[in-house]
Order: sequence, then C-alpha cells, then structure tokens
Amino acid sequence: MLQFETCVTNVSRSDEEWIVTSCYLPTQEIHTEKYDAVFVCNGHYSIPEVPKFPGLEVFKKNKPDDVVIHTVKYRSPLHYNDKIVLIIGGGPSAQDISIDIASEAKLVYISHHVNVLLSVKFPDNIVHKPDIEYFTEDGAVFTDGSSSHIDRVLLATGYRYNLDFLDDSCGVWVEDYGYVTPLYKQLINISQPTMAFIGLPFRTFIFPLFETQVKCMIKILSGKVSLPDRGEMYKDRRKEEENGKSKGIPKRKYHNLASRVRQYMNELYELGKLEPLEEVIFGIYEKTMALRKIDLVDYRNHKFRIKDSESFEVFHVGQSVGKTQC
Ligand SMILES: Cc1cc2nc3c(=O)[nH]c(=O)nc-3n(C[C@H](O)[C@H](O)[C@H](O)COP(=O)(O)OP(=O)(O)OC[C@H]3O[C@@H](n4cnc5c(N)ncnc54)[C@H](O)[C@@H]3O)c2cc1C
Repeated sequence: MLQFETCVTNVSRSDEEWIVTSCYLPTQEIHTEKYDAVFVCNGHYSIPEVPKFPGLEVFKKNKPDDVVIHTVKYRSPLHYNDKIVLIIGGGPSAQDISIDIASEAKLVYISHHVNVLLSVKFPDNIVHKPDIEYFTEDGAVFTDGSSSHIDRVLLATGYRYNLDFLDDSCGVWVEDYGYVTPLYKQLINISQPTMAFIGLPFRTFIFPLFETQVKCMIKILSGKVSLPDRGEMYKDRRKEEENGKSKGIPKRKYHNLASRVRQYMNELYELGKLEPLEEVIFGIYEKTMALRKIDLVDYRNHKFRIKDSESFEVFHVGQSVGKTQC
C-alpha cells in the first residue's frame, strides 16, 4: 500500500522486526507499524551543506535574505537580471545554474578548484575564479589575490545525507555528512541485512543503477541468492574504505562512483545473479558525459538512437549530417 503525505519519523529494530513510526501530515496522526524489510530511499539533495567562508556575515549584513542563497532555493535566473553573480562550487549544480543565470546576469563568477572545468566551454560571461579567501562588504577576494564586486551569491556547496529518523538500533549512521556506514556494496545494512539503502551513489547514471540495486535486494530478500557472512561483508567494506583512504578521498565522497560505475554494476550483477545491462546503455552514458565535458551548453542538443544491444547513433539536433556511429 502506498501512503502519500506521510513522513517517516522513526525506524527501530526490535525482536527481528522493523518498527516504523510515521506521521500523516494532513492530520498529524502518528502510526506505528511492523515490517520484515525496509528500503531507505530518502534521497540526499534536500539538506544544504554550507561550509564557513570568512567574512560572509559581513557581506550579508543589511542585505535582503535572497542576496545569498544555497542552490536548494534556486528557482529562476530572472532574479539575477543584469547582476554580478558569484557561484561557489564546481559540481553539477554550479555548472548547470551558472549557465542558466548567464542568460540574465551581467557577469557570473564561478569559484572552484575543479581543474578539469577550465577546459569546458562555458558562455562568454562566465569567468572562473579560484577559491574564496574572504568576503568584504560588497564583494570577495580570491586566493589568487584578485577581488571583485558581487551583487548576488549562490552557494553550490552540496548537500548532507541525513538519516536522523533511524534509531541507533538500526546500526547505521552517517559519517562526514555524506558516508552511510557500515554497508555492503553501498546498499545493504551489514548489521541488519533486511534493510537496504537505494540511491546513495552519486556522479553516476542513477536510474539504471538504482533499479539494479532494487532487483539485487529483492533477490536477496526472496532467498533466491544469499549474502556472504557478516565477516566477509565487513572485510569487503574495509577494503573499499582503505582504498579510498589511500587515494586521499574524504569519506563524504566514498559514494561517488564516477569512473567505478562499471565495476560496481558488475559486483551487483554477481551478487544478485542478475542479467547485465545492455552495453549500449553504458555507451550512451559515457558518450553523454564526454559531450558534457566538451561543451556544457551544447551537449543537451544531442539525440541518441539505439541500433542494437551494443551500438547507437548520435545526432545533433537540427543537423541531418553529423551522425556518429558508436
Ligand atoms: C538540481 C539537480 C539536478 C539534477 N539533475 C539530474 C539529471 O539531469 N540527471 C540525473 O540523472 N539526475 C539528476 N539529479 C539527481 C537526481 O535528482 C537524484 O539522483 C534522484 O532524484 C534521486 O532519486 P531518489 O528517489 O533516490 O531521491 P529523491 O528524488 O530525493 O526522493 C526522495 C523522496 O523521499 C522523501 N523523504 C525523505 N525523507 C523522508 C522521510 N523521513 N519520510 C518520508 N519520505 C521522505 C522525499 O520527500 C522525496 O520525495 C539532479 C539533482 C539535483 C538536485
């Protein structure tokens, strides 16, 4: 049964069962129910992560609240008409919003330390800047010593993962605001393996991946495949963590799959004894990412036609020629 307008406020583990407490929002009625398994699919793009920037309070003083916002509140470029805008961050939100705002703003500064972005084609009124050294009353000073007047600031500084509704008895927590642990294959609660987390990975092709996670978990819950013993699962997780640590990756980025997506999917196919996704799906994903790296504005003007399970054609919208076979 689907229950809309309902917020899960607590999940706990007791006597081999999951006790789920929820609030039906229209009436504020509280319900408690028992379940054999729980899938946690609560997303991770709603709670802003905002690092401290020296002087930001000085800049904000006596200005309306909407002069400095986090991207979670961004709705329209019209608010930025003819303004000098500073976007802090170099992730997908910063990239996409900078382009949206550039259509209205006088000038957009994008402050980041993502070197690969420097070779991506952006609109002409977007200027890359290094990290912020500090804010002043009406602008910002950057780590290269340059300074600029700023009218509006957008904090594209990411989001926090939140599992506050999970009681300690669930045996899972969030470290470094973005790493859910201890999990097997970023999916299964090792302490209580009838709890799954769908959708934790980011920087990947999300929907086919999430679907594979769900299929894998259903196979496990229905007893069609079995999990390794707990010791093995902890060992696997430790290996992943040590691998991340040795590369200097902060914990909050452990769910970043980026170039590891094929390896991760193979591990899920193996675990769930699942039919692998057709190669053409990976091909289209990789082609899209490659096009995005070249031209952030134009890459959306491509269309794909699947030819067979391994190959596809790419068209540029409005061009009858320029078809690429892949
Ligand atoms: C600005 C932006 C642009 C994006 N663009 C793209 C893109 O172009 N392509 C792409 O593939 N992906 C994109 N993504 C990522 C994509 O939106 C997410 O990966 C996807 O929405 C994740 O789906 P989900 O179901 O896991 O989580 P969500 O879509 O976040 O859904 C989670 C749901 O859980 C509910 N919820 C949370 N806590 C509770 C609770 N305690 N009780 C009950 N319900 C709860 C929330 O209200 C929400 O409805 C983008 C994300 C952002 C923020």
